[in-house]
Amino acid sequence: MRLLILEDDPQLGDALATGLRQLGHAVDWFGDGGEADAAIERAPYDAVVLDLGLPGTDGMVWLGRWRARGLALPVLILTARDVVDQRIAGLDAGADDYLIKPISIDELAARLRAMLRRATGRAQPEWTHGALAYDPASKRVLWQGRAVELTARELALLEALLKHPQRVLSKAQLQEQLYDWSGNEPESNALEVHVHHLRRKIDPGIVRTVRGVGYALGAPQ
Ligand code: CA
Repeated sequence: MRLLILEDDPQLGDALATGLRQLGHAVDWFGDGGEADAAIERAPYDAVVLDLGLPGTDGMVWLGRWRARGLALPVLILTARDVVDQRIAGLDAGADDYLIKPISIDELAARLRAMLRRATGRAQPEWTHGALAYDPASKRVLWQGRAVELTARELALLEALLKHPQRVLSKAQLQEQLYDWSGNEPESNALEVHVHHLRRKIDPGIVRTVRGVGYALGAPQ
């Protein structure tokens, strides 16, 4: 998943970004609401983690503006303990879920998975496509019942394709889902290499090349 975090506390922001990256997500962390607001229009985020207590413009105000602009992406708010009113107001303002500080990374990751599942209209925690089964919680991939070992980037690519099984995604769109802005610019042919590995490790037909456009998931087998 590509995630945006808006959290002004440097320690918590850094811990959340580091923890979520270790779980294989691409994460952009902002301490400033204006910067997060600009980024949200520029990158294809899957979800936002929003702290409500921000200096200057409050998190609730940003949430209200995003929803007023028609931004539909899932938002999880971070709130302090003992502020039930704030949580209710946040949910009513368009938040999809909340977590109370202190935050457990594992719980945050599980809630983000659940939000993505709902946002993509899935009922089952496991994603399937023909003989392919993918469990985003354990990162386990099965092809015709056989376990497939994939690297973090290969998993992220597979997840990006599985999220929209009917869609052809351009190289740029896929790269935006795999890489955040933390500085590690991908090699120019990195995506082709990952596609090659998915075909070799899973099945040659798992990823379809659409000439001049990009890649799509192959027909379910
Ligand atoms: Ca704060």
